[in-house]
Amino acid sequence: MNKRGRLFIISGPSGAGKTTLVSKLIEVDKSIYLSTSSTTRAIRVGEINGVHYHFLSKEFFENKVKNGEFIEYANVHENWYGTQKSTVETALEEGKSVILEIDVQGAKQVKEKCPEACLIFVTISLEELKARLKHRATDSDEIILTRLLNSKSEVEASAEYDYIIENDIFDAAFEELEAIIERERG
Ligand code: 5GP
Repeated sequence: MNKRGRLFIISGPSGAGKTTLVSKLIEVDKSIYLSTSSTTRAIRVGEINGVHYHFLSKEFFENKVKNGEFIEYANVHENWYGTQKSTVETALEEGKSVILEIDVQGAKQVKEKCPEACLIFVTISLEELKARLKHRATDSDEIILTRLLNSKSEVEASAEYDYIIENDIFDAAFEELEAIIERERG
């Protein structure tokens, strides 16, 4: 029988570079399973349904909540996001390391249900964050402002995380992330 896999949660403000770090991680380590979340937010240019997210209608999402299909779910920047329980459980049973890239509210819910989960917070300096969000240019100024304000409360919640990675320099942050995963999965 496989040894049960390790559950990792990665959170941090939008624009802090979580997605890029995680993408590189799953590229170099094929044994890691990245959970694909469900969301009610609109699909962005370049995103693929079923790859970046499962893009669901609000009704469909609410049905899944009612049926208890999510291990966690939360409202982030006025849209719903959730993690499918069954796929995460199957990957853990297969002995895989599983990564959930979710917000701080979701991380709290998962930690309550699975206290052994390892929580990693990725952050960057506020100046760098503003510059990156502007540079991304997929969002309006109003949305950028909401995200910046939200990032403040996210950073406050980071006190409950096991690790905090500063991502002003990508290569250094990536090395740190790899070392944490290696150490924690034993
Ligand atoms: P974005 O819409 O920019 O892809 O993501 C916005 C925020 O939602 C990010 O902070 C991301 O970590 C969070 N998020 C993505 N998927 C989930 C999920 O399944 N659950 C929760 N709680 N947050 C999520």
